[in-house]
This record gives sequence, structure tokens and C-alpha cells, in this order.
Amino acid sequence: MPRWTKEVLIGFVPVLLIFLAFIGVNIIPVLLVVALVGVLTLMKMRGGIAVGASADRKRKKKGPGKLTFDEIGGQDHPKEELMEALTFLIRHEEIQKFGIRPLKGILLTGPPGTGKTLLAKAASQYTDSVFVAASGSEFVEMYVGVGAGRIRDLFHDARNQATKENKKSAVIFIDEIDVIGGKREGGQQREYDQTLNQLLTEMDGIYNSDCPRILLIAATNRKEMLDSALLRPGRFDRHIQVDLPDKKGRKHILEIHAKNKPLAEAVNMDKIAEESFGFSGAQLESVMNEAAIYMMREDKQEIEQRHISMAIDKVMMGEKTDRESTTEEKRRVAIHELGHAIMAEVVRPGSVSQVALSPRGQALGYVRHNPQQEQYLYTKSFLEEQIMIALGGAASEEIYYGGRSTGSSNDFEQALNIVQTMMKSGLTSLGIINIEMVTTEELMRENNVVLEALMSRTRDVLEQHHNVFDQSLEILLGEETLSGDQFRCLFRESSLLPA
Ligand code: ATP
Repeated sequence: MPRWTKEVLIGFVPVLLIFLAFIGVNIIPVLLVVALVGVLTLMKMRGGIAVGASADRKRKKKGPGKLTFDEIGGQDHPKEELMEALTFLIRHEEIQKFGIRPLKGILLTGPPGTGKTLLAKAASQYTDSVFVAASGSEFVEMYVGVGAGRIRDLFHDARNQATKENKKSAVIFIDEIDVIGGKREGGQQREYDQTLNQLLTEMDGIYNSDCPRILLIAATNRKEMLDSALLRPGRFDRHIQVDLPDKKGRKHILEIHAKNKPLAEAVNMDKIAEESFGFSGAQLESVMNEAAIYMMREDKQEIEQRHISMAIDKVMMGEKTDRESTTEEKRRVAIHELGHAIMAEVVRPGSVSQVALSPRGQALGYVRHNPQQEQYLYTKSFLEEQIMIALGGAASEEIYYGGRSTGSSNDFEQALNIVQTMMKSGLTSLGIINIEMVTTEELMRENNVVLEALMSRTRDVLEQHHNVFDQSLEILLGEETLSGDQFRCLFRESSLLPA
């Protein structure tokens, strides 16, 4: 039944009853029938929830399979921290003897696909516990109290399952905890405030002497959104950061996912780890999977280096599409991409690895850059150069077409993000600021000042290199790709020509 029909009925029935009473009709039997229907509906709802919960239970009972910490690549530090925190489940008797309060919750924070769920599963294996998983969004319901009921069920399930399987402990994993654990802003009570309150109550009810013992592990990629009640000591008092893997970590993850695949001996994993800079564990898993698919498509028996390079392109930029663009559109895309490539070559010589016109994912063309060195600190000039590379496409369209196109929206988004990082780090004329204390107008003004200045510098640089456009454009339009070396050759030759 559509929701509005239900709401109209809820509003209409009391009015009808009052009207009937008013004209002297005996409404007591009607009231009894309404009450009966209400009770039956409520029972059905509860039944529905129970059915839902038992379906959940069935799903959760499948368990994690045998996943150990060894099967998680990289993440050495989070693994160590987690193992240390798990001591309380393993050496609980000593912990009780020394009066140490139990660790109730561990919060894993980090970008998507970095292995947070894997860590929770490995934790349950390491501590010989049952594993019960749920996602924050499963607790969001329109009906008041249902989410809270599901939290109760989750803890109840975990205890029951551990008892049934004769285990001494249970690990409950809640992914996307921010969905239910977001900051409470006071004022009106929301349905999920009750869910959060129930979670806090359940956590407060975890004791060292409990059998089975419960450990809650939650994951989020937006820790700053969480309510402080969740983060205080005694609740989630261990916070473990799970970051994107570094080169060594990436190599380890790739090797784990290559184990069950036929890899040619000549494949250089170090190079692949270098090329996949910035990839998460989930993306690396996808790279190995896609590489195997490319191998199969070519009827080969082993995965070669180029299959993996093609897979990296696919994961980074999406599948090649058959979108046919007009000659004029192609020319504009070529000029746009050459703008990025020339800027990149000017500010970071040797950095372009390929310029391509083939449409991939949402992009009509792209410039692939050589892997950067792992870097955790950026100077102002580095960030400005990065913005200039992003603006290179729009700037060259302005030079050659006198205006921009919609093709620059992603570039601008990237540039704006970098400007924001600069503002937060005190690298703009706003000085050292708390971004929340500055008005939107002031931020907009500073954005414009920074971007206009960099746009003008970018245009100047590109105008000085118009020979490179002239030399590379026809080749790029004809061949649809230019390798980094080819492009650098044209770049050097053109730079020798008179301006
Ligand atoms: P989300 O925040 O989106 O829930 P997550 O951090 O929980 O993501 P997982 O679900 O643990 O990520 O990882 C997804 C998949 O990516 C895994 O099934 C695995 O194949 C692969 N993966 C991610 N990280 C690693 C890793 N460190 N080692 C090996 N495989 C990994």
C-alpha cells in the first residue's frame, strides 16, 4: 500500500469515528475492531522483523571462512595494533586478575576498500571467536524502535551463536557505523538516535566476566562524523587507522591475489606496485582479476605484464567505450589533453607516460602519468604545479577555441580540492585559518584569487609552447595515442623551433 494512502487512512478514521459518535452511533464495537486490527498489525510487524532478523542470522552464520592476518597484504601497523588489542580476548583471565577493564570496541578508520572488513574477519579467526557482521544501513528504518531492536538482536545473535558453537567469544562487526553513529544535534529526536542509544547501552553491558565475551569492531571512512559518546574511553577506545597501502604493501596485496592465478615468470611485481600508486586493496584485487580476464580473452595461458598494465588502466579510468565522437570533438579533446600533457612535462619533466584519445569510462581522452614517488608532505609550489596541470586542459581550450567546454569539470573539482587543502594548511593569503570560521564569500574570493592567478600562469606557459601543440596535434589525431617517449621527443624538437 502506498505510504500516502496509509497516512490518509490514519487521518480519516479518527475523524469518521468522532463524526459517528457525534450523530449518536454506538462506536464501541468499531473501536474494538480497530484495536484488534491494530494489535494484529503490530504482531505482524514484529513477526516481519523477526523473520528479517532470522534471515540476517542465516546470512551471518555462514561465517568468515578461514581468513588469517597473513592473507591481508600491507597494513603491517594496523595488524600489529589490532593483534595487540585482541590480547584482552585471549588473555582475559590475566586481564581480569589485574583489574583491567575489557576493551569493548575497536574503530577502524580509513578509505574504502583498504581491508577493514578483512581485518575484522581475521580478528575473529585469531581469537577463535564467532563472527557476526552487519552494516550501519541495516539499522535505519522508518519505524521508531525497529533499528534499536535490530541492534539488540545483533548482540543476542552473537551471544547465541557463540554458545551454540561452543566458542568463548564473539566478534561483532558493524560496517559504515557513521550511518547510525552520526553526531546527535539535540533538539528533535531522530529514529536513529534511539538506535545509537541502544548501541551505547549494549556496549555498556559488556563485562569481562561475560561468557561468551563480546568485542565490537566498527568501520567508517568518516570518523569526524561520529558522536563523541561513541568515541569516549570505555566505548570505542581503540582507534586504528587503515590507510591506502604504500608500494611495499601494494606489492604484497598483488602477490596475495596472484597466488591462484597463472602468472608469467617475467612479470615484474615491483613495477606494477609502482604503477598502481594510490590504489586501495580492493582496486588491486580488481587489477589482478581484470588481468586474468584479458589473458583469457586473448586465449593465453599465462598473465603477462601488459595484461596487468591494461588492467591498471581499466581500474583507473574505466573500460574503453565505443563512443564515436565527431572530428571536431576529437580535436578539442586532443587540444585539451595536450594542454595537460605539456603542463605536466614543463613542471615535472619526464612525468607523462601516455596521452590517449580513446574514450574510457566518462573521459573522452586522458593523460597517464608515470608513478610518483610516495610523498606525504607537499609544498605550496608542488600543489600550485598540480593545479596548473589540472587547469592545462581548460587553458588550452581557451587559447585555441576562445572558450571552455564541459570537459573540464573533473579538472576543476580536482583543482578546488587542492585549493581547499592549501587553505586548511595556511598556504594562501587568508593565512592560518579554521575553515569553519571563514565565510563562504571569503573562501570564494580566495578560491578565485588563487585559481585566476594560476590559470593565467598556465596560459602563459602553454602559449610559450604552441609549437608542441602544432607538432603533436596531427599525430595524436591520427594515431589516437602518443607514448611518453614519443611525446617528449616532439616536445624537445618543438622547443628548439623559433617561437
Ligand atoms: P569498505 O570501507 O568499502 O567497507 P573495506 O575497507 O572494509 O571497504 P574490504 O571489504 O576489507 O574493504 O576489502 C574489499 C576487498 O578488497 C577484499 O575482499 C579483498 O579482496 C581486497 N582487499 C582490500 N584490502 C586488502 C588487503 N590489505 N589485502 C588483501 N586484499 C585486500
